[in-house]
Amino acid sequence: MSKKILVPWAMPEIGRAILRNAKAEVAFLHGPGGEVPGIAELIEGTLHADVLITRADHAIPRKVMSANPRLRGIANYGVGYSNIDIAYATELGIPITNTPGVLTETTADLSWALLMATARQIPQAHRYTLSGEWKALGGRTFMGLDIGPGGSNRPKVLGIIGFGRIGQAVARRSRGFKMKVIAFDPPLKALIEKTRGVSYRDLEDLLRESDFVSIHCPLSAETRHLIGEKELKLMKPTAVLINAARGPIVDEKALLAALKQKKIAAAGLDVYEKEPHPTPGLFKLENVVLLPHIGSATEDTRGQMAVLAAKNAIAMLRGKKPKNIVNPEVFGSADYLRRIGK
Ligand code: NAP
Repeated sequence: MSKKILVPWAMPEIGRAILRNAKAEVAFLHGPGGEVPGIAELIEGTLHADVLITRADHAIPRKVMSANPRLRGIANYGVGYSNIDIAYATELGIPITNTPGVLTETTADLSWALLMATARQIPQAHRYTLSGEWKALGGRTFMGLDIGPGGSNRPKVLGIIGFGRIGQAVARRSRGFKMKVIAFDPPLKALIEKTRGVSYRDLEDLLRESDFVSIHCPLSAETRHLIGEKELKLMKPTAVLINAARGPIVDEKALLAALKQKKIAAAGLDVYEKEPHPTPGLFKLENVVLLPHIGSATEDTRGQMAVLAAKNAIAMLRGKKPKNIVNPEVFGSADYLRRIGK
C-alpha cells in the first residue's frame, strides 16, 4: 500500500515540489484561505496518513496523535514545537521534527523591527499621519525612547532571555546601536561569558538593568509565565518588553496591567497566549505594537522552512531518521518499530 503525507494547511509551493519530486502521495486539507481544518476533519485525515506536516502555530491535540497506530512521524513547520505534546508523542513512539536555523536571521530582523517600532512609536505615528490630524508643527510629538546612546550619550542596555540561535542573532544586530548586551540562559552561561560584548545576568538582574528586554527562549513548562507580575515589577518604568518567541512565556493579563499602570513604558508583541486572540485590553493601549505572529514571514525563509519540513517528512515516510529530530530517543523504541511495521 502506498504511503501518504497529510498537509492540513497551505504549504508553500517550493515544499510541495520537494514532495512531488519524491513521488510521495500527498493529501492537502485546508480551506480556500489556507485555514487549518477542525479537529474531527484532522482526525479523519490522520487516520489515512503515514506522516503529518503541521504548522508550529497550530495545536495538535493528543487525540490526533493517537488516532492512527501507523503514523510514522510529524514534521513541524517551525523551529518551536510547543504546539505538540512531545512527551506524549515520544510515549507513542512518534518522531517529531522541526525547522531550526533557516529562520534565525529573519526572526532576529523582525524582533529588531518590533523593538524599533515600539521604542519610536512608528505605527502610532503612521496612523496619525494618515488620519490628517497633523495640520501644523507642534501637533502630537511622539516622544520616543532612544535605542542608541542618544543626546546624553548613555549606551542602552539590551537584555536577552534565551541566548540560542535567534537570541545571538539579535545580540549581533545591537552592535550598530552601541548597546550594552546582557543575557540570561543558564545552560549557556559559559558561552555568554565568552561572547565579546555580552555579559551574563540572572533573570532578576537582567530585568532590573535592561532598557529593552527581548525574549528568545522556547516555550516549555519551565518558561510558561516566566515573565509575570513579579518580574514586570522589577523592570524600569522606561523599559520596553519585546516578545517574538511564544506568547505564554509572558503572563498577558499581568502585562496588560503593567502597561496600563505605566509600570513599564511599552511592549512589542508578535505572539500571544491564545492565538489569534490577543487579550482584548491590549487593543485599547497606545503603548503597544502588536503583530500577527510574523517572525519568520518572508518568502525566502518560509520557503526554506517548507523545504526542511518536506525533507523531514519524506525521511520519516521511508522509515529513515530525519535530519531535524526533536525526540531522537523514539527510534530505538518498540512502539516506533511497530509503527513502521518492523
Ligand atoms: P534555540 O537555538 O533552541 O534557542 C533557545 C535558547 O533558549 C536555548 O539556548 C535554550 O537553552 C534557552 N532556554 C531554554 N529555557 C530557558 C530559560 N528558562 N531561560 C532562558 N533561556 C532558556 O532556539 P531558536 O532557534 O533561537 O528559537 C527560539 C524560539 O523562538 C523558538 O522556540 C520559537 O518558539 C521562537 N520563534 C518564534 C518565531 C516567530 O514567528 N515569532 C519564529 C521563530 C522562532 P536549551 O537549549 O538548553 O534549552
